[in-house]
Formats: sequence, structure tokens, C-alpha cells
Amino acid sequence: MVNTGRSESQPVAGGRERVRSKRTRSAEAILRTRKEAGYLEIICGSMFSGKSEELIRRAKRVVIARKQVIVCKPSIDTRYGHRRVSSHDGNSLRAHPIDRSRPEDILSLAAAKEADVVAIDEAQFFGPEIVPVVQRLVEVGLRVIVAGLDMDFAGRPFGSMPTLMALADEVTKLKAICVKCGEPATFNQRLINGRPAAIDDPIIVIGGRESYEARCRRCHEVLRK
Ligand code: ADP
Ligand code: ZN
Repeated sequence: MVNTGRSESQPVAGGRERVRSKRTRSAEAILRTRKEAGYLEIICGSMFSGKSEELIRRAKRVVIARKQVIVCKPSIDTRYGHRRVSSHDGNSLRAHPIDRSRPEDILSLAAAKEADVVAIDEAQFFGPEIVPVVQRLVEVGLRVIVAGLDMDFAGRPFGSMPTLMALADEVTKLKAICVKCGEPATFNQRLINGRPAAIDDPIIVIGGRESYEARCRRCHEVLRK
């Protein structure tokens, strides 16, 4: 049977036809036409380790190769403007803000934009539904670049990042520089009025340099009550 890519219709009482979730179904149809093998790349590490920088670098190279890339981020992260992915260095790229509880919107966006590559920044902020979304994108043949924190402020695995890392074809773990001792840093130090945050603090507290530092394992502190 030839797949026409049209939305399926369902007859309903009264003889009229109801189109079932046209946007999602056509997204599926468009995505299903790809022939390439998908590929999942993870860029993880602490804050200031250069994850956004690396994501921006990879996305720009996709454009140079004349392929379509879309960049997405959870709309929770509004530090540098809603519609851009920005590195602490000031580099930035246009991005689509996605509701963190609706990562499936990435599927319809990828279909609508006919993306070859989907880049997702700050992926640790999405709910667990991000995992099947990423799997679906890879399954239909897209290259997916996911950047995010691998650990929270207390050194615990963060959100769906560990699962995505397990599923990935390639994992790049970047390191920042410890602001205390100058060694490579893999931890996020959360500070509240200059003091280490407590272990029972909320996991998600958006902040920049004023509330977070990159630190090595030896210099990382969490207040344990
Ligand atoms: P991430 O996305 O991992 O938070 P960014 O790509 O936004 O990282 O920023 C990386 C940039 O941050 C570096 O190139 C550097 O200029 C700057 N930077 C600031 N503090 C540090 C630090 N402690 N260690 C490394 N880079 C830092
Ligand atoms: Zn240190």
C-alpha cells in the first residue's frame, strides 16, 4: 500500500468525518518516510563545562552541511531569553521553547520543519516522556543531539539524562574548571547567600553564576542535615 501521508479519518455518528489529531498523525507520516539510520549523541557534564557551546557548534556544522536542524529547549529555562540557546560565553542560536511536560511537541515540530537533526538543550529539565520522544526520533532516522546536566546540585543523576546516556550511540562528558582549586570540575555547587545548599533543597532552582559554581569532587559541598 502506498503511504499518502494523509491523516486518517474516522466516521462518526451523523455521517460527518472527524479528523483524528491531524498534527500528530501527519508528523508520524512525515517522519516515517526517512531512510537514514538514526543516531543519538549525548553531551553531558556540569554547568560551565561547555555543553551549550558544543551543542551550538554541532548545530552550526549541520547548517554548513545544508541540512535542516531544529534546536529545542524546555521553556522553564528563561535565563537568556526564551527563544535562544546561549552559552556562558555569549554564543547563541535560535531555539524553540518546549513545554517541559509536553516533549512530544518536538515530534510535530521536527516533522513540520522537515528536520534532519534535532538538538535538545537542558534536557534534564524534561519529564520522563522525553525518553520515548528521543527514541522515536532516532527510530525514524534522525540524528539527535541531547545536551544536559548529568548530575544535580547534590551529585545525584539528573532526570532522564542517565537513561538517555544508556541508550546513546555516543556520550561526550565535558568538564569545567573548579573555581576553588583549578582542577577539572564535574560537580555543580549550589550556593545560597554564598553558603552550600542543603541536600533536601529542591532539585530545580534556575540560576547562573550567582547561585552555581563548577567544582571538583574534593571541593564540592552539600549541607547534610
Ligand atoms: P554549559 O552549557 O555546560 O553550562 P556553556 O557552553 O554555557 O556551558 O559555557 C561554557 C563557557 O563558560 C566556557 O567556554 C567558559 O568561557 C565559561 N566558563 C565560566 N566559568 C567556567 C568554569 N568554571 N570552567 C570552565 N568554563 C567556564
Ligand atoms: Zn577543586
